[in-house]
Parts: sequence; C-alpha cells; structure tokens
Amino acid sequence: MTGNSTTSLDFGDDPQCVSVLLPLPLGKAYTYAVPPGLALMEGDFVAVPLGVREVSGVVWDGDIDDVPPEKLKAVLAKLDAPPMTESAQRFAEWVANYNMASLGSVLKMFMSVPDALKPPKPVTAYSVNNDLPEIKMTKAREQVLGVLKDNPPLPATLLAKEAGVGTSVIKGLAKLDALIAVELPPPAAFKIPNWQVSGPKLSLEQASAAASLRAHVEAGEFYVSVLEGVPGSGKTEVYLEAVCAALAQGKQALVLLPEIALGAQWLARFKARFGCEPTEWHSDLTQTTRRKTWRAVATGEAKVIVGARSALFLPYTDLGVIIVDEEHDQSFKQEDGVIYNARDMAVVRAQLGDIPISLVSATPSLESLRNVECGRYEHFDLLDRYAGAELPEILIIDMRQDKPATGKWLSPNLIQGLKDTFAAGEQALLFLNRRGYAPLTLCQGCGHRFQCPQCTAWLVEHRFLGRLQCHHCGYQMKPPDKCPSCDQADKLYACGPGVERLAEEVQELFPDIRAEIAVSDNLHTPTQAQELVSQIENREIDLIIGTQIVAKGYHFPYLTLVGVVDADVGLTGGDIRALERTYQLLYQVAGRAGRAEHPGKVLVQTHDPENPVMQALKAGDHKGFIATMSQDRERNSMPPFGRLAGVILSSSDERAVDQAAANLARTAPRDNGVMTLGPAPAPLALLRGRHRRRFLVKAGRDVNIQTRIRAWLKATELPRKVRLQLDIDPYSFM
Ligand code: ADP
Ligand code: ZN
Repeated sequence: MTGNSTTSLDFGDDPQCVSVLLPLPLGKAYTYAVPPGLALMEGDFVAVPLGVREVSGVVWDGDIDDVPPEKLKAVLAKLDAPPMTESAQRFAEWVANYNMASLGSVLKMFMSVPDALKPPKPVTAYSVNNDLPEIKMTKAREQVLGVLKDNPPLPATLLAKEAGVGTSVIKGLAKLDALIAVELPPPAAFKIPNWQVSGPKLSLEQASAAASLRAHVEAGEFYVSVLEGVPGSGKTEVYLEAVCAALAQGKQALVLLPEIALGAQWLARFKARFGCEPTEWHSDLTQTTRRKTWRAVATGEAKVIVGARSALFLPYTDLGVIIVDEEHDQSFKQEDGVIYNARDMAVVRAQLGDIPISLVSATPSLESLRNVECGRYEHFDLLDRYAGAELPEILIIDMRQDKPATGKWLSPNLIQGLKDTFAAGEQALLFLNRRGYAPLTLCQGCGHRFQCPQCTAWLVEHRFLGRLQCHHCGYQMKPPDKCPSCDQADKLYACGPGVERLAEEVQELFPDIRAEIAVSDNLHTPTQAQELVSQIENREIDLIIGTQIVAKGYHFPYLTLVGVVDADVGLTGGDIRALERTYQLLYQVAGRAGRAEHPGKVLVQTHDPENPVMQALKAGDHKGFIATMSQDRERNSMPPFGRLAGVILSSSDERAVDQAAANLARTAPRDNGVMTLGPAPAPLALLRGRHRRRFLVKAGRDVNIQTRIRAWLKATELPRKVRLQLDIDPYSFM
C-alpha cells in the first residue's frame, strides 16, 4: 500500500474494523478501520470522516462490509461522552423498524445536541500562591486574599463578588503571580431531588396503586399500568411515588408530558416536594441548556427528566421508570420528520429496558383501555376526587333552542351563567378551539372566500395583528378593504367566531370584567405561561378566553364556570378518533371548573345534543362511551382491532405526484388480509405549496403491515421530486 492518499491506511492485512452508524438519513451503518491503540466498544461515540467532512456517529452492532483497503477510512477519535447504552441502541432499531424510518434518522433524534459529545469546558478558578511574591498591598487586594483564606479556589466573577471588588483586581493579582489559576470541573448543573421527604398520606386507593408501581420499579421489570382517575383524584401523587422509588435506587425517572411549556404548575409542585426543580426537556430550551441537559442525562447526573415527546430519546444511563402523563394526548404523536407515537414508543422503551411504565389520564385512550381488557396492562382507577371536591356539573345547552342573538355566539343560558359567576366574585373560562377573530372571510357581494395560495385552507382573520393568516404555513396578508374578485367595498364579512371575536362579545356584555385571551400565539414560553397562571391565581383576571392551550392540567381554585362555546368543532371529518378526541378535550376543559372548595359548573353549547359525546359528558360515562366507540372500531376492523398505515405522496408538481400515485396504485397490496384505499387527494390537498395524495393501508392485527408496505414500495421507483411519507398508526388523516 502506498501512502499517496490521505485515505489509505496501513493497518496490515487484516485491519480491525467497526461498524459506525451516522445520524443521517441512511439505512445502515458504515464500516471504518480502527487505528491501532484505539479500543472501541459498541455504543461509543466516535468522530469519523465522511467525504470531506468530519461527522460524529456511534459504534454499532452492524455488519462489517468488505471494503477495499484503499477505500477504507479510519475512525478519527473516540469522543469523550458516555456511550449509548445497549437498550438505547436496540430501541433506536425498534423505532426505525416499526415506523419505517431510516435508522440514521432515528439516531439523529438521539444525537440532537452534537455539542454535548464534547466534555464541558473546565472552569478557571483562583487560589493564593503559597509562595506569595512581594506586591504592593491595597485594600481591594487584601480583601481578595482574605476571601481565599477560608475558601476553596473560586472563579474570578464569584471571587470578585465575595470580596466586593472588580474582576480587574483579580486579573491584576494573577498577573503578579499572587493568585494562581487552577482548572476545576464545571459545577453540577442539576441537583438531586430529595426523595426521602415523604409526600402526603395517600388514600387507600392511591396507596395500593403506588405500592404496585413501587414494587415494579424496585424489581426492575417491565410492566405497564394505566392510572385512571378524574382530575384531582391524586394521580400525580401516586406516580411521584414511583419516581421516588427509582431515585431511591439511584436510577433516573422520565415523566413525559404534553405541552411542557405549560407545565409551570407541575414544576412548582415538584420543587415544593423534592426541594429542587426537575430537569426539563422541550423545544424552548437554549442551546447551552440543551447541551448541559443532554450531558447530565448521559452521565446520570440528571435524575428526574420531565419533557415533551423528544425526551424519550435522551441518553439515559440508568432509567428506572417512565410515566406518560395525559397519555391520551394527541401531541404525543410526532407528525413530521420521523413520524412516531411517543406514548407507544415509550412502552417499547420500557420493555427493552426492563422497567415499568405508567400511562396516566383522566380519559385513557381506547387503545390503552383495550390493552387493559386483554390483560396486557394493569388498571388502577382512582374513583374519588381527592379532598372530597365535587366533580363539576355538566349541562348541555341545545343551541337550536337556546339561540344567541344574531351574529353572536353566547346563548342566553351561558350569559346568565357568566353573570352569576362574576356576581359571586368567581372566575370563568370560555373555551373555543379557534385562534384569531374569525376563521373565514367572505365577500357577501360575490361569494369570494379568502384562501391560502399555498394550502387547502381558509385564511383566518387576526384582528389584533391586523392580518389574514394561514394556520398551516404562516402565509399572511393585510386584510383588503375591497374584494379582490368583484372589487366591491364594504362587502367583506367575517364568518364564525374565534377567541378574539368572543372577547369582543364579552366586552360588550360585561364591560367591567377583566378578560384575558389565552392562545398559543401569546403563551409560547414557560415564563409567559407562568405569568398568566399567577394572574389567574391572584384573581387579577375574571375571565379567560382560550383555546386548548388552557385545557391542560391547571388548577385554579376560584374558577367555577367553564363555558364550551362550540362543542361541535372537531366532531366531523373522516377521522376515526374524532369523537374520542372531542370527548377527551371537552372533559379536560370541564375539569378546569371547581376543583377546590368551590363546586364548579360546565355549560356545553352544541347543535347536536344527542351526539354520544354530549351524552357521555352529561352522564360522566367515559367507560360506556369508550365501550361504544370500541364496538364501532371493532366492527370496522379499525385500530386497535386492525392495523392502519398512511402513505402520503407530495410534490410541488401536481402531475408528477398524480403519476407517481397512479404507478404505486398498480402494485398496492390488496390481498392476504391487506387492503389499500386510494390514492385520493388528501383533505389538505395542497400544503405549503405541495400537492398531496394519500393511500391508506388497512390490515388485520396479525399482519405485519410494515413488511407488506416495504415489499410494495421497493418495487416502484419514485421520481426525485415526489416525496413519500409513511405514517404507521396514523392519528391525522389530513
Ligand atoms: P391528578 O393528578 O389526578 O389531577 P393530583 O395528584 O394533582 O391529582 O391531586 C390533586 C390535589 O390534591 C393536589 O393538590 C394534590 O397535592 C392533592 N392530593 C392528592 N392526593 C393527596 C393526598 N393523599 N393527601 C393530600 N393531598 C393530596
Ligand atoms: Zn397556507
């Protein structure tokens, strides 16, 4: 072998090779040579050359390819980070395989903070030189030396602060060799929660669920439980016991929550009990915090991690338990990139790691309850509200009888309810799952509707912002003063209500009350959320008008009336979970009313009072409702009684996507227990300028739907400009 190229390596005839998986959308790992003297194990993070780039990857249990020696490149370095655990590696493979994503894309989710693979920079601290040189003493210098007399080495800023001097004094002393610099490891970023402080005395029901969770954590075995109970029944207290059990064993605990940005109350409560905040993980963290957090999870320093779905892919060294709170929540489903359901994948993670997992909800999903029914999951049902608070009374308002004034959205009954609540000095919540002022702007002259040029969607009027906006792609325009189609002025008409319009109606009815709109637009950081929460807690607000962002987990003692403005939003559409989801959402919203000593009331406005959702809400019959929905799904062989997969083709070129869809349709699986529906234009036929076509593959439970789809797709080549997305167990049918 000649040494004329940088890639040629002389490792003898039989170089030691390893397989390295890279966090890139590749299906498999690449083979690299191991330079002499470098000991590598599976799971080690390494730097390798890829073309002209240097990339990080993981030594993987993959095939070693027979690479010709002149092509074989060598691992550049082993990175100074704790290795990826065996169970994390197997989990990555499982996620890739099940969701039909490339293994490299899945690894990318595990390696979301490349910077964290480098060890953190040491901190420079100062101590007094034992061999103190002759220097001119000043008061400031004396103070510095004085502080260091009874302290370990301190970083400059801290030292300056303690001594009450500027940092220039420190620098000056260092320059004169009176102080010497030492490197210290960076301080721990996270405290260990104090699990030895006991929580409240649990009720019998709570105690028996907690004992079971604890026992399984201690035994270190896979076990799934569903923890059901109305809001306020004390589910959180129960699962915190499981968290304690993991901490007692020196293990880590993961609590997955939807919409972590709004977990302020959860965090405060955790701190009150455990003496420090848990480690948070969500999209709103700074890069520095992400790096510290990733590293602290990998080293085992971070013990309790509470996060959104991506927290599932943090590098736990020794995970002892997983909790999925609000397990029914749709936001656990990741809808772009690698499409996966974090709730379901969390169960797999628990299984591969031999640890227990608890799925927690007031309205567990049909899927989870089905697993209970089949004996796969254990079920704990906390029936009583803790501290005897009353469940709110739910009243259905038939909007066909109890009509609002023309162009208004609140029925006389709901207005009366608001009046009574404000008169009693209590708070109310109006729930409407529609941001903005009006969901559609229409020309009454010619019928022109304002539509997004890039999406199959109406433009939503946001009056505060003075814009028409697309909620899918962000496209926006100034509201025109005349119709672009017929040129008439004064004919443009806002159709339907959004929260802003509702606020206007309320202001007219109750000019003196303090109302606040709560929508994702003005609540996206934890700080903003916390501000709103304190304002409500301090009774600085009488009325909250909000979207589903306010539905989750809050606890406001003086909030006694919840008005659901339009319960029918979301009931229709070809979605198999539409009713279940509406029920869960409305139930959750209803749960905001009257949780403390003040009993609450919920008024639900609907045009369809006979709908099973309204009936079940009124009767408080989740079980009966799920049973009905379950029969329905079983009859239609829908999940969990059958399998579904969505195949979505998209392209900016409409002809290309239609052509590709037609080609695929020819070989679509349609036998041996598999049925393929489509291709059909997706309900969102145009999204961000891309034309979309859908197939829906339906199969029996006993069919390996992934294998069948793989075989199908392999046989047809797609043009480059057509993108294919696979959605196993789809939740969105748009
Ligand atoms: P959930 O999670 O079911 O909504 P929580 O666990 O949040 O219910 O409990 C509701 C409220 O009741 C919380 O303030 C909680 O601290 C309190 N609580 C729950 N269980 C107990 C208990 N056994 N003793 C005292 N307070 C409790
Ligand atoms: Zn759009």
